[in-house]
Amino acid sequence: METKIQHLGVAVNSLDDALNFWRDALGLTLQEVEVVADQGVRVAMLPIGESRIELLEATGAETPVGKFLAKRGPGIHHLCVEVEDLAAKLADLKARGIRLIDEEPRVGAGGALVAFVHPASTGGVLLELTQRGTGTH
Ligand code: ZN
Repeated sequence: METKIQHLGVAVNSLDDALNFWRDALGLTLQEVEVVADQGVRVAMLPIGESRIELLEATGAETPVGKFLAKRGPGIHHLCVEVEDLAAKLADLKARGIRLIDEEPRVGAGGALVAFVHPASTGGVLLELTQRGTGTH
């Protein structure tokens, strides 16, 4: 399977504060900021080579990222790997007994098809899968 790390998701308390580092100090370019309402996040995408840093700010305390921040504090939240055919990959993983958070693809940041795999099956890493060629990122 030819693939890549599509992005690395980092949970932050404040996008503005995080951009002071990732954009202003480190020198990455801010591609865009987007609200993904059904996930309860404001997302800032900063391309880095063939990949991206995805900064995630919760829109409220009762969102997945809000709960993550309350429990673990800011830091690496998930890794996103690109796949060719997301529905087929999910069916294959399910058949292998892998625990999925999303059994069907759904629409994530940038309109991309995404699905999450539970950390219990990945060695403790929340893994997002995204289908190549979907979305604007
Ligand atoms: Zn992501």
